[in-house]
Amino acid sequence: MTDRPNSLHASDMAHSMHPYTNMRAHEEKGPMIMTRGDGIRVHDSEGKEYIEALAGLWSVAVGFSENRLADVAYEQMKKLPYYHSFAHKAHEPSIRLAEKLVEITPEGLNRVFFTNSGSEANDTVIKMVWFLNNALGRPEKKKFLSRNKAYHGITIASGSLTGLPANHKDFDLPAIPVTHLTTPHFWRFGQDGESEADFTARLLQELEETIAREGADTIAALIGEPVMGAGGVMVPPEGYWPGVAEICRKHDILLVSDEVINGFGRLGTPFGCEKFGFTPDILVTSKQLTSSYLPLAAILVSDAVYDAIADHTAMLGTFGHGFTGSGHPVACAVGLENIKIIEEQDLMGNAARLEGLFQSELRKFADHSLVGEVRGVGLIAGLELVKEKTTKEAYSPPGSMAAKVVAAAAEEGLICRNVYETVALCPPLIITEADIHEIMTRLGRALDRACADLASG
Ligand code: PLP
Repeated sequence: MTDRPNSLHASDMAHSMHPYTNMRAHEEKGPMIMTRGDGIRVHDSEGKEYIEALAGLWSVAVGFSENRLADVAYEQMKKLPYYHSFAHKAHEPSIRLAEKLVEITPEGLNRVFFTNSGSEANDTVIKMVWFLNNALGRPEKKKFLSRNKAYHGITIASGSLTGLPANHKDFDLPAIPVTHLTTPHFWRFGQDGESEADFTARLLQELEETIAREGADTIAALIGEPVMGAGGVMVPPEGYWPGVAEICRKHDILLVSDEVINGFGRLGTPFGCEKFGFTPDILVTSKQLTSSYLPLAAILVSDAVYDAIADHTAMLGTFGHGFTGSGHPVACAVGLENIKIIEEQDLMGNAARLEGLFQSELRKFADHSLVGEVRGVGLIAGLELVKEKTTKEAYSPPGSMAAKVVAAAAEEGLICRNVYETVALCPPLIITEADIHEIMTRLGRALDRACADLASG
């Protein structure tokens, strides 16, 4: 990129620090600069078009060119561009969005708190849960349970809940009391001779034993993504979530459903907990809430959680927590319009209708020499790559083959994401049958290209 000394490329290489990027490699390689969006497609500064098969970061439900969201943002900017929600202040967009979220999420979640990101939302959940247990006179009940490979964000507390090595190593995390349980992924973590039902039973036993070892009176909450997303798209085994929910109830441990990716129809049901048959005490959502046109996240809590917190604020005089941007009017207006579009165009129904085609077409790659497992549900899926199909041995260094496939896919005009050994797909909910076939064609070419690369050394 040195041939473009005054370019955006050169400027980015000289000045930007990118998240989730090898910064030294970036100084050499430079950025892929995106210039515009069009439905499920995006275009880069070289004029190349890509199908965005990860919906940005698992997030753009309505596609990349929805003018209604732009119009609503503009109108709200002109009317009331900013106001906060501290100390009894309010505005129509956040009131209406809270009301709408209560209407469309599972019953019993009747109170909403807004933040700007999923990480802030999960930090807020931790603080709410600690506040609540102090209020209830049980200051020892503070630990969280999470799972290996979970993704709950990257701030100091939410990053502690995350169960991925790259988010902990040399960041001195975890920094809050958290225990990470076994990843509920049968294909990778099931033992020889173990059935899926046995695997579920073993994981539930692990949960019971962990609670017995640490003491239920020290464990505040268990947090989980119904389908684990950013850790590699792991679909839980049959019976896992109802079992986890029952154990949590028994031990008075709050259950937090992190639906930052799973929410708004991604799994073919409005929310992920509905897909797997459990009722959380707290539900966290973001990403598809605004199709990520603007940053926004929402936490919904049960009446019992709300009442304990609210009583304590009455005693202390305030809830000493909140962000300048909590419930930002423009983000909330965009969120409302986005949900309206999802409803009007029945995009959740679209995800449910296209699930069969999307998942079955992907499963045709199960026979490909690079692929160990194809998994997914609704419109989210992962292809885990292996060097050796029978032993499930991974390529070395870990993740190198998935990175190669994702790079080959980009050459083919397809954006997907490599998460360790897994190639992840999570297309916008506006996707059509024809788009799915086009994704499969491009993905197939990418797998073949990576294979040919491997063969040629
Ligand atoms: N929770 C889940 C399940 C996520 O997938 C993510 C982000 O991918 C987060 C939390 C963190 O959200 P953010 O990146 O907005 O902080």
